[in-house]
Amino acid sequence: MEQFIPIAKPNLKGNELKYLTECITSGWISSSGKFIELFEKKFADFCGVKHSVSCSNGTVALHLALLALGIGKGDEVIVPNLTFAATANVVIYTGAKPVLVDVQEDTWCIDSEEIKKKITKRTKAIIPVHLYGMPCDMDSIMKIAKENNLVVIEDCAEAHGAEYKGKKVGSIGDIGCFSFYGNKIITTGEGGMCVTNDKQLAEKMRLLKDHGMSKEKRYWHDVIGYNYRMTNLQAAVGLAQLERINEFIEKRRAIAETYNRLLKSVKDITLPPNKPWAKKVDWLYSILINDKFSVNRDNLIDILKEKGIDTRRFFYPLNEMSPYKDNSSFPISKKLSEQGINLPTYIELKEKEIEIITNCLSIINVY
Ligand SMILES: *Cc1c(COP(=O)(O)O)cnc(C)c1O
Repeated sequence: MEQFIPIAKPNLKGNELKYLTECITSGWISSSGKFIELFEKKFADFCGVKHSVSCSNGTVALHLALLALGIGKGDEVIVPNLTFAATANVVIYTGAKPVLVDVQEDTWCIDSEEIKKKITKRTKAIIPVHLYGMPCDMDSIMKIAKENNLVVIEDCAEAHGAEYKGKKVGSIGDIGCFSFYGNKIITTGEGGMCVTNDKQLAEKMRLLKDHGMSKEKRYWHDVIGYNYRMTNLQAAVGLAQLERINEFIEKRRAIAETYNRLLKSVKDITLPPNKPWAKKVDWLYSILINDKFSVNRDNLIDILKEKGIDTRRFFYPLNEMSPYKDNSSFPISKKLSEQGINLPTYIELKEKEIEIITNCLSIINVY
């Protein structure tokens, strides 16, 4: 196999090595050091929020957010049925119950009308997920939250820099949570961040991520905390990535435009959603393989793999898996999950490679 086009690939060609070297030579490699503060400060500025709290990954960012907002046993938290499982897992960590809600056909994100139907006396929070970089319809979600006295945690793990009506995702709900896993829009290897405008929530998350240890009295604990800290090494990479985030975002948008243009003439596929109020950041450019396409989605993945093109199926609907089992009907997430495919999307992907991929799709559909 000659050619190989991966699904994702980090670009670490800025100041990453320089800043990492500074950590090594100075000895500041653990969870204190100047890069942590710098990265937090600059990430808050980037999102347009007052506070940000770094942590070890995106999953624990969500866990910290739920804990700081007081979610626990007996509570219900609304999550979309189509997301990465971490969104629901963190709810279960707290002892609360994830309540699954179907997504919308025209955004692939959580459906507000369906949220209304699932609210009970126990409902405490909603976790909208900006799936594959497409912002959720936040106005309607915030309205429902306000009317029902619910808190909102935005899962922004796939949407760094995406905007809803001119506001950066993460800055709209009570807390926004980001992941910096290796394949995300910016990376620290593993890493996460919680952003908020609420000082008290930020302080709570800071306390909880550092063993719950009192800031004034060392080794004194009033609450049970965790070790969810980010290292200076991770933050060094993160700061270097953040310096180039606008360039990364523009590149991703250009990649999506190229895909859209080249796929327009391919029959029997559905291009990714968009909305006038959204400024997406295509984390993974994704399409649907309609029933009429010459092969089904899973066969297509195999054929592309043979040609050296790495793709992914969409997430499985959570309700179909035993930890989250729910026998009600979720027609949209079921359909998207069966038809959705993520195509290679990364900064160094060349137009020529996008042409190879889109040509493959169009040829496969002819035969
Ligand atoms: C990646 C991701 C997470 C988890 O982030 P990690 O850093 O891998 O723990 C959570 N939610 C969504 C939607 C994700 O895509």
